[in-house]
Amino acid sequence: MRICERAAEARIWSECYRQAGLSVGLVPTLGALHQGHAALLQHARRECERVVASIYLNPTQFNSPADLETYPRTRQHDLDVCREQGVDLVFLGETEDLLPDGFQSHVEVEELTRPLCGKFRPGHFRGVTTVVAQLLHVARPHRAYFGLKDYQQAAVVQRMVKDLNFDTEIRLVPTVREPDGLALSSRNKRLSPREREAARGIYRALTLARDEVRRGEEVASEVAARLTNSLERERELRVEYVEVLDAHTLLPFPEGRIERRTHGVLIAVAVYAGGTRLIDNVVVLPDGG
Ligand code: AMP
Repeated sequence: MRICERAAEARIWSECYRQAGLSVGLVPTLGALHQGHAALLQHARRECERVVASIYLNPTQFNSPADLETYPRTRQHDLDVCREQGVDLVFLGETEDLLPDGFQSHVEVEELTRPLCGKFRPGHFRGVTTVVAQLLHVARPHRAYFGLKDYQQAAVVQRMVKDLNFDTEIRLVPTVREPDGLALSSRNKRLSPREREAARGIYRALTLARDEVRRGEEVASEVAARLTNSLERERELRVEYVEVLDAHTLLPFPEGRIERRTHGVLIAVAVYAGGTRLIDNVVVLPDGG
């Protein structure tokens, strides 16, 4: 496994394989790798002849300095995970290359970044898309892998790639969960035992909401209200948002009536467990979807 820090070196590496006719897959990460990241790497490994993992704790996607400060940093462990998963190149992004002095260019996706996390984390998606665009330029992958755990991020990146004609296919990977349902996240490490216990209620509440929609509940606000109630029953959790939206546009359904037969339904939440912000979601596919 090769490890490189400079963008130019990673670009040349990738270009050599592209020219040799081999497919390149990219898995972008912030580090603090867990089995969710490993699942992305496994998908890439299966589908691509060369796999690049990028590890870059992108400061521009953090809108809280405390969140960035306390984000887990586990470099040695991350390299071990990459090695175990058969990664060919680890690109350790350097701020010097990714945010050079005088940096002033950004990529911004408009409508899709307004709801959900976009409402509460101003500038977050602009930070994500700008750095993902750079990573796509550096690694020049045929495919790049994103987790459905960050559903809005995946939708935003797909939109960017389509709108700006990037020559990369975005591949989406299902959320990896703990046995009790909690979605794996680097931030889970920060949970106290009581917060961790309460956090299992998130997926439980989401699956109840999903079942309601599957059974034919049509009123989005009622699904959202019951979901909010069941989350708030956990004393350690504080709800930031609960949304039931069209899974494609991320917009509310007309007149709040869920059109489950023809449209995918995204049920997404953000909650705080103590000071730790957790997000999760489930999607109900349309009939035949
Ligand atoms: P991060 O390092 O948190 O930016 O995550 C890097 C990639 O891993 C993103 O595409 C995430 O959506 C994905 N990811 C994070 N957690 C999970 C999970 N539990 N299951 C699947 N993918 C995940």
